[in-house]
Amino acid sequence: MIKSLLIANRGEIARRIIRTARKMGIRTIAVHSDVDSGMPFVREADDAVCIGPAPARESYLVQGKILDAAKATGAEAIHPGYGFLSENAEFAEAVEAAGLVWVGAPASSIRAMGLKDAAKKLMIAAGVPVTPGYMGDDQSPGHLQAEADRIGYPVLIKAVAGGGGKGMRKVDAAQQFGDALLSCQREAAASFGDDRVLIEKYILGPRHIEVQVFGDKQGTVVHLFERDCSLQRRHQKVIEEAPAPGMDSATRAAVCDAAVKAAKAVDYVGAGTIEFIADASEGLRPDRIWFMEMNTRLQVEHPVTEMITGQDLVEWQIRVASGEPLPKRQEELSISGWAMEARLYAENPSVGFLPSTGPLDRLKFPRGIRVDSGVEEGGEVSPFYDPMIAKLIVAAPTRPAAAAKLAQAASRVEVWPVRTNAAFLARAASDPDFVAGHIDTGFIERHADRLVPAAEPSETIKQAAARALLPTAPDAWSTLAGFRANAAPDRRVAVEIAGHPYLVTIDGAPIRARDHIVAGERLLFVDGEAWPFETPRADHAGGSGAVSDGALLAPMPGKVITVEVAEGDSVTKGQKLLVLEAMKMEQAMLAPFDGVVAELKVGAGGQVSEGTMLVRVEKADG
Ligand code: ADP
Repeated sequence: MIKSLLIANRGEIARRIIRTARKMGIRTIAVHSDVDSGMPFVREADDAVCIGPAPARESYLVQGKILDAAKATGAEAIHPGYGFLSENAEFAEAVEAAGLVWVGAPASSIRAMGLKDAAKKLMIAAGVPVTPGYMGDDQSPGHLQAEADRIGYPVLIKAVAGGGGKGMRKVDAAQQFGDALLSCQREAAASFGDDRVLIEKYILGPRHIEVQVFGDKQGTVVHLFERDCSLQRRHQKVIEEAPAPGMDSATRAAVCDAAVKAAKAVDYVGAGTIEFIADASEGLRPDRIWFMEMNTRLQVEHPVTEMITGQDLVEWQIRVASGEPLPKRQEELSISGWAMEARLYAENPSVGFLPSTGPLDRLKFPRGIRVDSGVEEGGEVSPFYDPMIAKLIVAAPTRPAAAAKLAQAASRVEVWPVRTNAAFLARAASDPDFVAGHIDTGFIERHADRLVPAAEPSETIKQAAARALLPTAPDAWSTLAGFRANAAPDRRVAVEIAGHPYLVTIDGAPIRARDHIVAGERLLFVDGEAWPFETPRADHAGGSGAVSDGALLAPMPGKVITVEVAEGDSVTKGQKLLVLEAMKMEQAMLAPFDGVVAELKVGAGGQVSEGTMLVRVEKADG
């Protein structure tokens, strides 16, 4: 067993690896860029080496600096995590050439699976079903077009060197093929330095199903069942789960056996994932699921597999790299319960998922679930790296229970001032179609209307804001009597949420919301969203005092029937100031306390809109 391990990565996955290494009694060494020196993973490692400036190509991607750090700290092994150098065959070789243990896939397997076309050819030879398409050497536009015509539209053009959802173009009709090919080739050349493409039949309503595999140096390969990663936005995974909904035993056997075959075909060692695409238009079927590609590393979404199998995949990686056989035999592995993971990103769904970076003045995760995160409160989301803040991971006995737990977890996230997709995740996890298992890779795009939260606060949020103000600012609200004929008096509160004034009725419904002062700003956290709020300043209404001085705002659009006071009049608490007619009902506006009418903004007969300041009373002693 190795005794020390350098982690050539950062953030969440570096912490994840450190956690297991520590449990196994292995000394850990972090490498980090200068902007990352204060990150938790640097502090949590036993040793840390700064390897350069923020841009990854000057630090995390510089092989020589990482190898030097390993030498300087006496590290015995290197774990690449995912991303960065994890699927770099040259680096895998350089690590071993330096006499170190590589906790990753063999360089030969990485190479064999590195290009999508070569991988597909290899899989065909191994008897693994692959997505129908063209993956030949003839890259002339005319030939590619002819192949696309033969396959039948829609087709997907993919860069053979592509990854991370880049370098793909869907083509719906023959006339669009030429332009799509050019733009795909351009992107492929720019992103991967290789403009070759392959063409695949575009599977309609597809589901992304992948199988976790593991190999050891003794030549044994097992699978740890499947994950479903169909919930994607722009080909990027958002919510992953295990097992896959609707998976029957025949399809599971077919796909897991194919995955083991695929791993064996490249003499695989360590953790790997075989990705498949399924045509689930008529449910999952053993003959409608095809190999897409292999990822020769640990995946971001590995925790859902850990949750349903009870295994620690990082521990497996370390044991296998140390030369031990796989910890479990195939027949010792089984699925228990249901697990889901949501990726909490620093982005703002209401404005087109714009990335959001900056300080994390507040960062609170729900208790009672697994949260894998690389950042902490007081830290920041840096523009240099992946914008993932955390993975929210839940497990429950059944899928509906897991979905409910995930929705609740996402709704309880509190982050500020960085914006997140927490509310979006909560909506997705509680969406009736999602809960029913009606998912495919187009789910998010198709349901964007109901999944993306509005930029304006909802009624719930307005009420929660009003409610939050009550205990601490009793003067900020006015009690208005008898608005509805036979109902109890409503309590109405004037608040300003995200810069906009609102007048809110509190109807007594319980709302789960928390308000906090973060860096001097008063915030309301409701359903995964964060809203700055305060009582409106009087300058919004043209006056000088605050609402706590006794400004009464129009609760709804209406007409002023009578005005019973004048500016300068002394009034007593409960005295009628004016009467408003709204929705065919009269409503008296009463003095909130003893005082003087400081401002009167309306006259009898005037029309007012909701939130208009009508009258302001100043306290007698103020
Ligand atoms: P990358 O390597 O860039 O991640 P993949 O080949 O893994 O690209 O595909 C990414 C995603 O694109 C898949 O998860 C799936 O949603 C979609 N996709 C890929 N191939 C097809 C296909 N033939 N038909 C429909 N959708 C596809």
